[in-house]
Amino acid sequence: MSIFQDDKDYIIGTYKRFPLVLVKGNGAEVYDDKGGRYIDLTSGIGVNSLGFCDAGWVSAVSGQAAVLQHTSNLYYTLPQIEAAKTLTTATGYKKAFFCNSGAEANECAIKIARKYSFDKYGRGRHKIITLTDSFHGRTMTTLTATGQEVFHNFFFPFAEGFEYCPAGDAAALEKALTDDTCAVMLEFVQGEGGVKELDRAFVDAVFELCGKKDVLVIADEVQSGVGRTGRLLTSQVFGVKPDITTLAKGLGGGLPVGAVLVSEKTADVLGYSHHGTTFGGNPVVMAGVNAVLERVNDDAFLAAVREKGDYMRERLSGRRHVEEVTGIGMMVGLKLKDATAAEVVAKGIEKGVLMLTAKDRVRLLPPLNIDMKLLAEAMDVAAAILDE
Ligand SMILES: *Cc1c(COP(=O)(O)O)cnc(C)c1O
Repeated sequence: MSIFQDDKDYIIGTYKRFPLVLVKGNGAEVYDDKGGRYIDLTSGIGVNSLGFCDAGWVSAVSGQAAVLQHTSNLYYTLPQIEAAKTLTTATGYKKAFFCNSGAEANECAIKIARKYSFDKYGRGRHKIITLTDSFHGRTMTTLTATGQEVFHNFFFPFAEGFEYCPAGDAAALEKALTDDTCAVMLEFVQGEGGVKELDRAFVDAVFELCGKKDVLVIADEVQSGVGRTGRLLTSQVFGVKPDITTLAKGLGGGLPVGAVLVSEKTADVLGYSHHGTTFGGNPVVMAGVNAVLERVNDDAFLAAVREKGDYMRERLSGRRHVEEVTGIGMMVGLKLKDATAAEVVAKGIEKGVLMLTAKDRVRLLPPLNIDMKLLAEAMDVAAAILDE
């Protein structure tokens, strides 16, 4: 039988997949089982920062796999400490914790915020405010943190202690910041929520209001971090310093990883036995992280990301079906008119360009190192579809 039928028979049906069987990739190009070639503007949802099978990344990961693949966190390993040093030095954070996914990183951030408040103020000051249209993950607690009603279904009871505030509404946030609040969690650019960037005035208000009340700001940069918006962190675009930042998608270049970065204030909240993971910080995955950071944590690389982001915006804005181009850097959203995102993505597949949707919008997250020639070719295709 076909793989489509096997998938139906053997894999729990939580995904709606495109009818493509991808078998190999190279850079920003990927091939299906019939030899069809596609330019990838998805990066596996912002994961393959360096594209498919980047030579340096492959050599770092496979080299580490051949030397020491896993030890557990009961021992010290060199790739993990190297990744922590690079990340903290580059971002100005104090310490890092490594886990395996975005949701896990957010779970850890939530635990840190709750314990920070417990240690200082005792029980009861545990409320966490998140924004409407946010996405923070699929575990029970991060589902609750996700500010979209569609996710708050079936799995009752959900975790207590979350409240939602409309993104951009500083007055509503001020009202929501009651004495039992320990943290505000936000995405600077809401990814799954439609590639919507927060406005600067709102971000400034969040930091000011939270600063006054000793309420922690947690930045969920699982999608927007690691160079995606043209800086290592999107907080740097806004010129602010969250108490905790979470990373995941683009960090390992294709390997499952999450990271929690803590500031001076939150660096020692978790101690021995308060948290842990079997796989987190695994040497092979950390070798991937180190290979990604070696390339992305570089001014010229990040400047090129900004340039390519500008180029995409220039090529896509003003098209017949494009009402607005949103996002920052190479995190690009297209608000459409007289066309649906699903139609645009389907036409893209026919014409050899892979794109994503985010709610009712088209979302583009190309590999950060895509070369200009391929990007231009993909923009020609996308522009034609958007003008049809
Ligand atoms: C994808 C995503 C998550 C969840 O990450 P997983 O690795 O799927 O658990 C959390 N927050 C944001 C902003 C994301 O984009």
